Amino acid sequence: MPGPPLLPNVTPGVRMTASPKKPQQTSLYAEHCKVQPRRVDGRFRTLKWIATGILLTIFFLGPWLRWSRGAGVPDQAILLDLAGRRGYFFSIEIWPQEVYYLTGILILGAVGLFLATSLWGRLWCGFTCIQTVFTDLFQWIEYRTEGDRSKRLSLDSGPWTSEKFTRKTIKIVLWLVVSFLTSATFLLYFSDAFVTTMELLHGSASSSFYSALFLIMASTFLLAGFAREQVCIYMCPWPRFQAAMVDEDSLIVTYEGWRGEPRGTHKRGQLFENRGHCIDCTMCVQVCPTGVDIRNGSQLACIGCALCIDACDQVMDKIGLPRGLISYDSSYNLAARGKGTATRRRPIRPRTLMYTGVLLLVVAVMGGTLVTRSRLEVDVLHERSPLYVTMSNGATRNGYTIKVLNMSREDQVYTLRTEGLPQASVDIIGYTATAATTVELPVKGDSVGTFRVYVTVPRGQLVNKTQELRFVLTEQRSGRSDSFPSIFAGSGE
Ligand code: SF4
Ligand code: SF4
Repeated sequence: MPGPPLLPNVTPGVRMTASPKKPQQTSLYAEHCKVQPRRVDGRFRTLKWIATGILLTIFFLGPWLRWSRGAGVPDQAILLDLAGRRGYFFSIEIWPQEVYYLTGILILGAVGLFLATSLWGRLWCGFTCIQTVFTDLFQWIEYRTEGDRSKRLSLDSGPWTSEKFTRKTIKIVLWLVVSFLTSATFLLYFSDAFVTTMELLHGSASSSFYSALFLIMASTFLLAGFAREQVCIYMCPWPRFQAAMVDEDSLIVTYEGWRGEPRGTHKRGQLFENRGHCIDCTMCVQVCPTGVDIRNGSQLACIGCALCIDACDQVMDKIGLPRGLISYDSSYNLAARGKGTATRRRPIRPRTLMYTGVLLLVVAVMGGTLVTRSRLEVDVLHERSPLYVTMSNGATRNGYTIKVLNMSREDQVYTLRTEGLPQASVDIIGYTATAATTVELPVKGDSVGTFRVYVTVPRGQLVNKTQELRFVLTEQRSGRSDSFPSIFAGSGE
């Protein structure tokens, strides 16, 4: 079987002329051949429609879901409130300080993708990637307005008639409507959906909103309507390194060359003796959304959508041969079938076990920290200028700025004390009249309280120029506490 070409229908870079001595550099860019996929029905097409339907429903309905969180708090179930600096996902509320959860979600997504790829090849690309989903939707609109592949090809190559103009105009208008709805829906995840929609309808939204709306709308229109497979082939980095996750037991879309070759045209009633089962009808190529001929082997441009399987299965049904000339199979089984040896299915392998282990570990760590996370956080900044002050009675005083983050909805009172210097007394500027070993700090719900604090140590208590000092804050209502390490500076005398 010939080795797989890197890209379909393209030969970028240096092209050789008839003379082997004189290579001629024609262009650094491949000429773009518009891919006009033919519509096909079948089990994988149905699966793709189901995946597209579910994902688009989640996306378009997401901003309209409500979740009661009490008075004064947004009731949108999924909201990335940039103005309020909060993220809401149903009962989970994320503060800017907890942005590491976002990192956790990204790690989860990446490892999940590694696992899915090692098991099922480019399942993500073919069925669930946002580019695939919207390209599918745009191609369906194209099919409904301009007809199937042959009609579109003749429409494109023909002169501009009123029918061509009307069909293309309707298609572009529908693409623009979908792009607008997509862009607007995306932005509704960043502010209250009902309020923003009313602002949009009345034309009173902010200029930054309209700029973002236009940018996302234009991107959707261009990427899903025109760039299509070129995004997968040239822009997306994933195909370049997904090969590292695939091994001989991963499921990929394969052409059984041992069975299909030598290919050739076939007349009704002809026997398939001394020839392969591929009748060279090119249906598998015509339905491919990226223009790949899978008979040339596994290729970077193949997104694993499996539509060529549906197309070839239909052809095999028509000519009375078994299905599966193109199938979802592992390269191990492809070779085994060719040799007539036993096939195997090995989903449990060292790499899938490793990915599953990492996935479970990240889920456990994220779940654990989410359940046990504190709604209280304290931050202490030691004042530098002056580092310390020696009082008239010989005592040493240090100044600190303490920030208390009350991540609960209720107003709270916290008790502040210090550890490390037994004789230390605390004085909150503006709150306490006299220094004491413990002081109370009131902080309103869902806010940050900032306090200037003096810690004073009597003469003779400091043995070093700097000593460790820990601030301990306890929530009076629940008894929960948090602490922050700092230092206490003095002359050491
Ligand atoms: S659809 Fe099947 S029979 Fe037709 S060209 Fe492709 S592999 Fe050959
Ligand atoms: S070769 Fe088959 S699986 Fe690959 S992108 Fe084309 S139709 Fe989809």
